[in-house]
Amino acid sequence: MTAPTSETTLLIWYCQSCRKSCKVQPPNEDPACTCKTPVPALRPTEVTVLHTPKARPMHALSDEEGRIRALARKGTKVRVTFEAEVVDAMQWSSAGDRGLSFTVRTSDRRRFTFNPQLEGLYIEGIPQEDG
Ligand SMILES: [Zn+2]
Repeated sequence: MTAPTSETTLLIWYCQSCRKSCKVQPPNEDPACTCKTPVPALRPTEVTVLHTPKARPMHALSDEEGRIRALARKGTKVRVTFEAEVVDAMQWSSAGDRGLSFTVRTSDRRRFTFNPQLEGLYIEGIPQEDG
């Protein structure tokens, strides 16, 4: 989605003394001229200003959204963790190699199967609460 651009044509009278704008029509910014007695040019200069509205979020980002957005860049090193319950664990062996594969289910009932021997993958038990 590209933000629409709008144009405004300003009439700017430049001060003959300091060469800065001393009157702007329609008024938008404060004139740059700070002369005590500005000497406006007889004719204004037409200046077309393009406005490209910045894409503003609909609402302020929460700290958590901001934190996640800051990570959403290629090359960022992250550690992904989630909690799940082991619903299946399978020992396998093939061609002299063997290992374990885990199938886990998260609280939203999605299943993930993975090999805990994969480099960088780390699985740990969650201490059970006494209840
Ligand atoms: Zn001036």
